[in-house]
Order: sequence, then C-alpha cells, then structure tokens
Amino acid sequence: MDLFLPPIVLGLLGLVLGLLIFVFGYYFSVKEDTRIDDIEKMLPRYNCGACGYGGCRDMAHGLLEHKAVVSQCKPIKPEAKAALMKFLDELYKAEAGTQKH
Ligand code: SF4
Repeated sequence: MDLFLPPIVLGLLGLVLGLLIFVFGYYFSVKEDTRIDDIEKMLPRYNCGACGYGGCRDMAHGLLEHKAVVSQCKPIKPEAKAALMKFLDELYKAEAGTQKH
C-alpha cells in the first residue's frame, strides 16, 4: 500500500491543479478583439512607423479607437486605402448603431 500512495496523491494533486487551471482560464481569460486582426491585415504591414505608431498593430488599435485616420499610413496603396476606409466606415456605423440602444 505504501508503494501506491505517492502516485495516487500526486495524481489527485495533478487532477485538482488541472481543474483549477481550467476554471481560472475559463473565467479570467481575456478575449482578443478580432477586429484588430482584420484591420491589421488590411494595412501594408511594413511596420515602418511612418504613421506615428510603433507598427501596424498599434495603428490598427488607433483606427479602432478613432484615434487615427487611414491617411496617416503613408505607404498604403490607394485600393487598399479605399477598402480599409470602407471597412472602417461600416465598423463605425455598426458601433454607432449598437450604442443607440
Ligand atoms: S505607416 Fe502604415 S505600414 Fe507603416 S507602420 Fe504605420 S500602418 Fe504600418
């Protein structure tokens, strides 16, 4: 019996800790805003910093938070700029629609 006690105790301890990790991960996880990825993909992704931000992801945050405008991105191509502006326009309209309620 003494031979089986340590593996049983360690197994139960592992089970309890695993459950705790699962519960904490489930209730305290931070959901990533996928709109930032969508906006970042539409930017040139040169991470040159010409927009005044540290990179394209920061610029995407700025655009999403209405702190930046697309024209701050200097190397963006006109077609990509138009597509991004259309995307943001729809996003901002959707936001405005949800804030009214
Ligand atoms: S200027 Fe454009 S390409 Fe350069 S970091 Fe800013 S968003 Fe990215």
